[in-house]
Amino acid sequence: MKRAPHPDTEQAGGCVNSKRACVYLVGAGPGDPDLLTVKALRLLQQADVVVYDRLISPAILDLIPSGTSRIYVGKASGQHSMPQEEINDLLLSLARKGHQVVRLKGGDPFVFGRGSEEARHLARHHVRFEVVPGITSAAACSAYAGIPLSHRGVARSVRFVTGHCRADQPLELDWQGLADPGTTLVIYMGLANLAQIRQGLLDAGLSPDTPAAFVENGTTPQQRRILTSLRDLQQDQERHGVQAPALIIIGAVVAFAEELDWFMPALLEGRDHDAQQVG
Ligand code: SAH
Repeated sequence: MKRAPHPDTEQAGGCVNSKRACVYLVGAGPGDPDLLTVKALRLLQQADVVVYDRLISPAILDLIPSGTSRIYVGKASGQHSMPQEEINDLLLSLARKGHQVVRLKGGDPFVFGRGSEEARHLARHHVRFEVVPGITSAAACSAYAGIPLSHRGVARSVRFVTGHCRADQPLELDWQGLADPGTTLVIYMGLANLAQIRQGLLDAGLSPDTPAAFVENGTTPQQRRILTSLRDLQQDQERHGVQAPALIIIGAVVAFAEELDWFMPALLEGRDHDAQQVG
C-alpha cells in the first residue's frame, strides 16, 4: 500500500524538486574512490554538509570540496563515538536548517550500516531523504581478492552474515542453515567472534578443509588478503594480526583466489597520488 504524502513534505518521492530539507543517505563503497557511483560523487560535490563515519577512506574524503562542512561521527563496529540516536538527531537538525545533507556511509547504507534506522528516523519526522546504494564490501572485497561469490557448479547461493552481536551475548546464527558446502558465506564484523563462528560451522558439519579468506582494508592501497581454511581460521588471524575492517569469506569459491589474483594495491597508491595532483 502506498503511503499518502505528509502535508509537510509537499509530495512523496525523495528529494527531487524539493525545496525543503533533504538528507541523502549515500553509500561510499569500501574505500577505492573509483568505486563511488556517479550519483554519490555528484552529491558530494553539491552538499552543504557531509556527515561521515570512520570507514570512509581518506581518498574519498579528498573528493569533498574544501568549502563543504564535514562532521565526523566516528562510527566503527562495536564502538560508536557518537551514539546512533545523536547521529539521527544531528541529521534531522541539519536538514531542518535547510542544508543539503549527505550522510556518507561505508559500503552500502542498507547493508549492516544502520542506514535504515537513520531513514526511519527521518521518515517519522517527515524529513525527505533519498538512499543512494553503494558497493557493499562483500561485492567489492571479493572482486578485489579474486574470489567469485558464485561459480557455476560450485556455489549456488551467497549469504551475507553479521558476526557482530551485543556485548556478552552469544552469536545467534542459524549454523545448520549456514553450513552448506554449496553456499558462499561472507561475514561482516566477524573478527571479535571468530572462535564462535568457526566452532558453530564445524559443529554443524561444514568441512574443516573448506577454503576461507580474510580481506582486510579491501580495495585500498592497504588491502591484505589472507587465504586459509575453516580449520585454521583463528590461528591465521592471530598469526597475521588481521584487524578490522576485514571481511571473512568462507566457501569452495575461495579456492579460485590464487588463479584470479589480479589486484595490486601498490598501483592504487600511485593512482591516488596522481589524482590528487590533478585535482
Ligand atoms: N555498510 C557496509 C558494512 C558496514 S559493517 C557495507 O555495505 O560494506 C562494517 C564491516 O564491513 C566491517 O567490520 C567489515 O567486516 C566490513 N568492511 C567494510 N569496509 C571494508 C573494507 N574496506 N575491507 C574489508 N571489510 C570491510
